[in-house]
Amino acid sequence: MPPALIRGLCQLLDNSAKKLVEVKDLKMHFPVYAGLFRRKVGDVKAVDGVSFDVYEGETLGLVGESGCGKSTCGRAVLRLYDITNGSVKINDIEIGETPQSELRPMRPEMQMVFQDPQASLNPRMTVQAIIQEPLDEHTTLTKAEKAQKVGELMDAVGLNRAFAKRYPQAFSGGQRQRIGIARALALNPKFIVCDEPIAALDVSIQAQVVNLLEDLQEQLGLTYLFISHDLSMVRHIADRVAVMYLGKVVELAPREALYATPKHPYTQALLSAVPEPDPTKVTGADRVVLTGDVPSPSNPPKGCNFCTRCPAVMDICKQIEPTYQELEPGHFVACHLFETTGEQGGS
Ligand code: SF4
Repeated sequence: MPPALIRGLCQLLDNSAKKLVEVKDLKMHFPVYAGLFRRKVGDVKAVDGVSFDVYEGETLGLVGESGCGKSTCGRAVLRLYDITNGSVKINDIEIGETPQSELRPMRPEMQMVFQDPQASLNPRMTVQAIIQEPLDEHTTLTKAEKAQKVGELMDAVGLNRAFAKRYPQAFSGGQRQRIGIARALALNPKFIVCDEPIAALDVSIQAQVVNLLEDLQEQLGLTYLFISHDLSMVRHIADRVAVMYLGKVVELAPREALYATPKHPYTQALLSAVPEPDPTKVTGADRVVLTGDVPSPSNPPKGCNFCTRCPAVMDICKQIEPTYQELEPGHFVACHLFETTGEQGGS
């Protein structure tokens, strides 16, 4: 039985699963300046009121189109930005408004694996120095202890220790991502935000990196926020999935429920575009083609963010923002189709 399924079953059985990460009404707005005097003329609402929890040991997938705010959301949760509003709790400690200087002791607990291993690794540092950097910053280990730890981390991610003195350019894309993962693991974190960790890799090695992340989760009890635009990959790795559109989470559900019975029209459209591995099942009849472009996050539409592209749009959608509510246990949706007359839109 796949590890993700085992974790899902365990979580169902264990209603008391601990929330490691609690995000409430998170907003990350970036000011826009214009004119001769560089006056503030508005905000890019990259993340605009997002709430979700991540349970200990699980993988929460965060999916959506490019530009929907999912990467900004991941960085904001780790407080790589000073957030505009909202609450972020890691292990019951509120870090939403904690000054950056006071966050330092918490950094070992929460780490990030970046999308582009080429850009996130310093080409002038050896692999040993890159992986060791967090140990230099946050520990008092001796030189020999650090070298030993780097060797163990290289073993854990499947890199040959003999290559520790080489530079990142000497490695393939998949190996560079393994270096990034080893660095993220150096301080024994509990929570890792994986920001499109396979998007820059060849398809042939994407599965290897995902399998590595799964194995490490199993061995080390890690908790992941897995950000991706690839719904097939998220289906493979995530226990629960949150769908983002224009800065907001529009649907969140256990993986099986989301893929089998998506409620929100945007989720239905996204899933209808996922390639079907079995060509005999492709009919084209269920494909939902969205028209129009994603509106600018500096000028989102009134009412529902999705109203300019939604195939099921109603008058109310253009006036009033739908409430994000729990339709079924663990299945949250923000859509007027489910507010007014109960369930009717899940086709
Ligand atoms: Fe579509 Fe209206 Fe639901 Fe928004 S609230 S997704 S516009 S039906």
